[in-house]
Amino acid sequence: MVINMAPGASESELQHVIERVRECGFQPHVTRGAERSIVAAVGGGGSRSALEALRAAPGVEDVVPIAHPFKLVSRQTRLERTRVMVGEVCIGGEEVVVMAGPCSVESREQILSTARAVKAAGATMLRGGAYKPRTSPYDFQGLGVEALELLREAREATGLPVVTEVMSTEDIPVISEYADMLQVGARNMQNFALLRHLARAGKPILLKRGPSASVKEWLLAAEYLLSGGNQDVVLCERGIKTFETEMRNTFDLAAVALARELSHLPVIADPSHGTGRRDLIQPASRAAIAIGADGLIIEVHPCPERALSDGAQSLDLKEFANMMTSLTAPLRPLAALSEVGVN
Ligand code: PEP
Ligand code: MN
Repeated sequence: MVINMAPGASESELQHVIERVRECGFQPHVTRGAERSIVAAVGGGGSRSALEALRAAPGVEDVVPIAHPFKLVSRQTRLERTRVMVGEVCIGGEEVVVMAGPCSVESREQILSTARAVKAAGATMLRGGAYKPRTSPYDFQGLGVEALELLREAREATGLPVVTEVMSTEDIPVISEYADMLQVGARNMQNFALLRHLARAGKPILLKRGPSASVKEWLLAAEYLLSGGNQDVVLCERGIKTFETEMRNTFDLAAVALARELSHLPVIADPSHGTGRRDLIQPASRAAIAIGADGLIIEVHPCPERALSDGAQSLDLKEFANMMTSLTAPLRPLAALSEVGVN
């Protein structure tokens, strides 16, 4: 249930509601908005009828059930859109954020040249895998701590905050020392032990959608992070498994719009894994922005043909710069409107 406080409710009226929610057997989660505060009562086992009676408490405007199983992620519990700060970068604000970099950190030269080039082209965050989730155990598994050191050097050289993947709970402390944002990879979206630990890691989280996860399951995975105490969560659509074989995944763009409609969290899109094809990165990126994505995460490599992972979907430095320029170009004119001189 959510308890919507009236616009002018006092702090003591709010505190009273918070106490009553606890007495009714629920955990109160308070959102203080510009206009009003909202108290979400979550958890099982409490008395719903006692909560409903809070309609009569001073300062309360309404008590309404939360329509979805993801409670704290739902827009019902937060009227304003969440903005997640990663260093100085704001995700979920007016500007589209572009995170770019190689699939895997491979060498000092590779990560430094990529970081400098993507920054010059307008990216505001650096990506790069240090611990790689590979389908085959014989494929390159990432350089681990050595990659983290190189990412730190690249951040110092460019000022770009770093996002990198965490695959296991035991790696959280060391990765947190080096990275600004922790990525939960698609394969780990429902690794609930990992999500519970990340809820307490004190770092913003980039939560990728699992390749076979519904939007509801994805938002419930985010609920683990929020209910565990971490509000700084960014969702990332990265394509799902379908019967299509010409693309690595099916880039589910409507899910970007839906996730933004159902939740207050920022949603970014990953056209690299979403399509698996470098020729589709530009149109898919433009489409993602058009449908409302708060940002993009794109794989870039100085020499994609030599990449140790995901070369086929990586842009080279020049292609990335061109792609960035294309993002500011207007969408196609509508015939009907140009005829009547509207645009
Ligand atoms: C990646 O970002 O390189 C990656 C492995 O992504 P995903 O988890 O979406 O496959
Ligand atoms: Mn990759």
